[in-house]
Amino acid sequence: MPVGTLATVKGVTASQLRDTGAQMVLANTYHLHLQPGEQIVADAGGLHRFMGWDGPLLTDSGGFQVFSLGDINRIDDHGVVFRSPRDGARITLTPERAMEIQMALGADVAMAFDQCPPYPASEADVAAACRRTHAWLERCISTHRTTDQALFGIVQGGCFPRLRAESARVVASMNLPGIAVGGVSVGEPVEEMHRIVRQVGPLLPAAKPHYLMGVGTLRELAVAVANGFDLFDCVLPTRLGRHGAALVGGERWNLRNARFRHDHTPLDAGCPCAACSRHTRAYLHHLIRSEEMLGKILLSLHNLTQLIRFTTAMGQAIREGCFAEDFAPWEPGSEAGHTW
Ligand SMILES: [Zn+2]
Repeated sequence: MPVGTLATVKGVTASQLRDTGAQMVLANTYHLHLQPGEQIVADAGGLHRFMGWDGPLLTDSGGFQVFSLGDINRIDDHGVVFRSPRDGARITLTPERAMEIQMALGADVAMAFDQCPPYPASEADVAAACRRTHAWLERCISTHRTTDQALFGIVQGGCFPRLRAESARVVASMNLPGIAVGGVSVGEPVEEMHRIVRQVGPLLPAAKPHYLMGVGTLRELAVAVANGFDLFDCVLPTRLGRHGAALVGGERWNLRNARFRHDHTPLDAGCPCAACSRHTRAYLHHLIRSEEMLGKILLSLHNLTQLIRFTTAMGQAIREGCFAEDFAPWEPGSEAGHTW
C-alpha cells in the first residue's frame, strides 16, 4: 500500500497511482483529523470521493503518529491527550474516538487504536502497552458499527517472544476480518524484525489477511511474505523520490550524483513507469539538480512502480509454486533478488 498521508500520495494523481499497479492505498487518521478534519471528508462523500481513488483504502488508527509525533500530555487507560502540532489545542484520542473518526473517513479497512511502545522499552512497559492495546481493542470492536468497513486488530509485544505470542493469541481470538502486526520498523535491528516476523507470522489465523505495518524494504518484504504476510505499507518510495533517490535493482541511487550527467540511458530499462519509458538518467539528474518538481514526481512514480512490481512478482511466484525457490531463501549471494 502506497502511503497517502493527507489523502494524497505526495505528487501523484490517482490515475498515475493506478498506473503504478497499486491496488490499495493507506491514509493517516491522525493527519486527516487535524487537517481538514473528518467531517469535511464525510461531507465530500467519504475518503474515496474526496481523494478521487476508487480502489481499496485503509486508514491507520492515528495511534502510531500520536505516540511518535505527538506532544503527549497524558496516556492512561482511557486514551491519550496530546497537543495539536497545528495550533496547540488539546486533543483527546480514545479507542471510541479513533473508531468514530475512521468511520467518518469511510475507508474500506479501519485499524484498531493501539499503544505502540517505543524501541527500546522494558518488558514491563511493553507488557503494560499490550494489556492496554487488548483492552482498547475490545472497546474498538464495541464502538465500530460500519458494516462496509472491516476492522483489523493489531498484535504488539515488542521484542519479547512471550508477549508477542500472548498478543497474537488474544487478537486472533477476537475473530476480526484481518490482523496486523505493529511495533516493528520502530528502530529495532533488522534481525530482530525478522525474528518477530518468523515467530508471529505462523501464529496468525491462516484464513485472514496479515498486515505487517510500516515495512517496505525488499528483503524484509520477502521474509514477511515467506511467513504469511499479505499487506504492507511504507513511505519509502515517495520519500526517497522527493529526495532525488531511485530504487533500482535493490539499490538506492542518488540522481544528484555527477555520474548521471551524461548518462542518456533509461533509469531501469525493464521498468514500465513514466520515468523509465520516456526519459533518461541525464534528464532525471537535470530535473533533480534544478529542483524541478517533475523530477521528484517521476522518481516517486518509479519507486512506487518498483515496489509494486516486486510484490506482484512474489504473488505470481506463489501462484506458480516457485516462491521458495525465487524469493524465500533470500540469503547473501542468493540469486533470488534477480528473478523479478
Ligand atoms: Zn521506472
